[in-house]
Amino acid sequence: MLPYAYFEGRIVPSQEAKISIAAHSLQYGTTCFGGIRGYARDMEFRLFRIFDHYDRLKNAAKILGMNFEMSFEDFKKAIFELVEANKPESGFYFRPFIYSDDEVLTPKFMGINFKVAIYMIPLADYLDTSRGMRLIVSSWQKFPDSAISTKAKAGGSYLNSSLARTEAMRLGYDEALVMDSNWNIVEGSAENLFIMYRGEAYFPDLGSSMLEGITMRTVLELLKENGIPVRFGRIDRSMIYTCDELLLTGTGAQILFAESVDDRIISQEMGPVCKMLREGFESILDMKHPRSNEWVTVINK
Ligand code: PMP
Repeated sequence: MLPYAYFEGRIVPSQEAKISIAAHSLQYGTTCFGGIRGYARDMEFRLFRIFDHYDRLKNAAKILGMNFEMSFEDFKKAIFELVEANKPESGFYFRPFIYSDDEVLTPKFMGINFKVAIYMIPLADYLDTSRGMRLIVSSWQKFPDSAISTKAKAGGSYLNSSLARTEAMRLGYDEALVMDSNWNIVEGSAENLFIMYRGEAYFPDLGSSMLEGITMRTVLELLKENGIPVRFGRIDRSMIYTCDELLLTGTGAQILFAESVDDRIISQEMGPVCKMLREGFESILDMKHPRSNEWVTVINK
């Protein structure tokens, strides 16, 4: 963690940002969070889609019934102040989150006070981007939205991701894909996915049990710009095994391709769509894309 964090309304040394062991959020996982990347380019830091990350966090609070009064202006100000205080030397990641340190025994959202904190870490690759991922379909199912909101990016729901990811790692694979209760593949443990299948990009239905990723939303626009037809629907295991490319997208993961799923080879080399998307993403960060000014917030080093 970098030395300064945003805690209780101000920037403090990270060591001082401490909460009680009886905190509601620690006991019940009652948090929701975001993850924002800052890229180091030339003499600048370029922050990716901070408004969209703020907006998703705000919607998570709304879904869960948490109080969240922070305006986007205040959120942005906290982020700028953190960059100034931490003086990062390379690319980084912000973790904004909403939590409660109320010492209340009942698992509930009503009558609980929620607060915002943000910390920063240096972050290069979360998963290895230099090669294809070896994936498995996890035996852990993704919970349905009818059990826990899948759109809220809630702390407690990452027990599910942790189980799936651990299973993959324990068996010697890089990452796990999870199925929903209809046995359709919906995402990775912390990434969205789509496949190239007979010349079209297939995404799981938005209303399936997946988080609506901001990287995925960006990728959708890049696909459309490049004239690749996009479909939303059910993706079953057989489609995964026989697709031309399987891509994982996420703020941490960025854009990754699958080498194999359950030991069925998908592609040993990076495919053309993955290459095109990585180039598209770079052009956004290089401020050469028509949406760059809207999506990228620049901070001078
Ligand atoms: N699904 C899950 C479960 C995730 O944790 C993430 C990472 N936030 C994603 C998808 C990708 O979302 P984003 O592109 O907004 O990082």
